[in-house]
Amino acid sequence: MSILVSGATGFIALHVVSDLLKQDYKVIGTVRSQEKANKLRKQFDNNPNLSFELVSDIAAPEAFDKVFKKHGKDIKVVLHTASPVTVETTNYEKDLLLPAVNGTKSILESIKKYAADSVERVVITSSYASVMNVSKEGDGSIVYTEKDWNPATWENCQIDGLNAYCGSKKLAEKAAWDFFEENKNVVKFKMSTINPTYVFGPQLFDEDVNDKLNASCELINSIVKNNPQVEYLLENVKGHFVDVRDVAKAHLVAFQKDEAVGRRLLTSNGRFAYQDLVDVINEDFPQLKGKVIVGKPGTGKQSYGTFPGINNNRSKEILGFEFISLHKTVHDTAAQVLKKEGKL
Ligand code: NDP
Repeated sequence: MSILVSGATGFIALHVVSDLLKQDYKVIGTVRSQEKANKLRKQFDNNPNLSFELVSDIAAPEAFDKVFKKHGKDIKVVLHTASPVTVETTNYEKDLLLPAVNGTKSILESIKKYAADSVERVVITSSYASVMNVSKEGDGSIVYTEKDWNPATWENCQIDGLNAYCGSKKLAEKAAWDFFEENKNVVKFKMSTINPTYVFGPQLFDEDVNDKLNASCELINSIVKNNPQVEYLLENVKGHFVDVRDVAKAHLVAFQKDEAVGRRLLTSNGRFAYQDLVDVINEDFPQLKGKVIVGKPGTGKQSYGTFPGINNNRSKEILGFEFISLHKTVHDTAAQVLKKEGKL
């Protein structure tokens, strides 16, 4: 039996693939090009349990058909992580909504067509973006749980990159649950979603630490690199965090535990303000003294009441493991960047 991981090149997906291989699963990863497959094959030391299929654009009609035509009977678990992660676009439909929503629908349609009797579990990588209401980000009286939904619609989310990204995640997740509801008598699988907040933590492979990192880790990279936008980020960025190693673990628990069936697993380990990230970096890396922003040390918590909270006790109970702390996730992310630069 195999596990299909879509978007295997991704920041989160690489940790998922690594955890799956450590637990001796056979993994089929979808990637956009042969070059990407070759690179990953090498990075995973030609692990015989890892193979690849090309899906060059998840937005294309029937994008996953050939994968399930070929492997459908062997695939028992599908982890759909592929989705565009950016807020830096103005072509909201092409760059965000269509790949997110069509990609999710088409992987589920392919399962229905070619693997309705064999796929047992599906885990969709959704997001906290699918839970929260972007227009209420300044409301400290709200406490979100797994039951809440971003009210975004296809039309009203197309106002800026942030709204469109959050809308893409909400509409994709909603499409998945709707598909499940409409087809639960036709397909064998049970479904769960993982809804992470900002995901920090190291890249699986040190060599993938580039000048610019994936969207969430770039917040920390920007401090270490003292990028010009840090002043703006210090004023504006606050939210909730989770470490990538915990998000990966959650993907495995989601298909391994019966309690996770039918659940939205909201993975978050608490609030942060950008000042908190700045503080960890200043405290832990004296070699950066005088070279990075300092802000007002120790004041991050003062802004915690100015944005919604999260109660994800139910998800934590189901997942059943201790989450990595803010200090460790920020430390490990920054340390890997410094190591790459020869400054550790
Ligand atoms: P990455 O950008 O690192 O990974 C995204 C993956 O999706 C990559 O494999 C990418 O391929 C693939 N992909 C994107 N668009 C397409 C497309 N049109 N066709 C085929 N493949 C595509 O992001 P993350 O690992 O951070 O995110 C993974 C998932 O987690 C996403 O669903 C995201 O929404 C969700 N998430 C992430 C959070 C975060 O803070 N990072 C927070 C909450 C949810 P390629 O590498 O070739 O570009």
